[in-house]
Amino acid sequence: MKKSVVSKEYQNLQKDIIALQENWKESINPEAIIPNLDASAMAAGVPAVALTSIDFEISLFLQWIEEINALLIKNNPELETKLAGVMTLLNEETAIRWIDEAFSFNSVYFASFAEENGLEEWIPQFLAETALRPYLQLTAEKIQHEISHAVLGAGCPVCGEPVRLAVLEDEGKKVMTCPRCLAHWNAKRVECAHCGNDDHKTIQYLTIEGDASSQIQVCEKCMGYIKVIDTRQYLSKPSAAMLDLTTIHLDFVAQEQGYQAVGENKQTN
Ligand SMILES: [Zn+2]
Ligand SMILES: [Zn+2]
Repeated sequence: MKKSVVSKEYQNLQKDIIALQENWKESINPEAIIPNLDASAMAAGVPAVALTSIDFEISLFLQWIEEINALLIKNNPELETKLAGVMTLLNEETAIRWIDEAFSFNSVYFASFAEENGLEEWIPQFLAETALRPYLQLTAEKIQHEISHAVLGAGCPVCGEPVRLAVLEDEGKKVMTCPRCLAHWNAKRVECAHCGNDDHKTIQYLTIEGDASSQIQVCEKCMGYIKVIDTRQYLSKPSAAMLDLTTIHLDFVAQEQGYQAVGENKQTN
């Protein structure tokens, strides 16, 4: 999602959504998630959820989408007409398709679904992704003990989300965290999470005036960035999803300066 406008209202809405997702996760039967982690596939960068059998309860998924709609409308009554037709479009077959396509970040599918059904472009993928996350998060919880590192450049080892957030823990240990599935794993302090560059000269840090606990680690080799937040002084540790949200100004700064949350290898002609 493009983070072009981040008002206080938007942040509050996101907080409400995160709270809903935490509730929803409680209603998933943990037995419905059966990981089958293949070491060689994981070593090749295949995210763990792609190696996990998840028995989705479609009625729950549909109920959650209704709840998101209700929250969005409460937040912005103008959305009522825009969201009015959504539930009638969602039968079991479509719901399964939404889950599959949200899994694989297929924004092309969602854009054409929106167009075919006269919905605003952001609506289908936003709803599907929001309702998918509790399953991703429960999967991450189940397999967290097996996740110690990531394949550089492959995104989150559990869900494949591009990496963009790390926290500094005791003794300055750098722990990467995923705002999508909430998995975490260790990383070297000076290392680009996108391309593996560990050269001090081409890994730089941008700092924000008046914000001593945040840094942006940027890589001049691939132009990738991650946010590095020192949470050691925090009284309560926010979840990765909340931390990602409350540090969104860092994404602006990084992107304004030409860095991206997904590294790109520079073409040398
Ligand atoms: Zn993840
Ligand atoms: Zn890099």
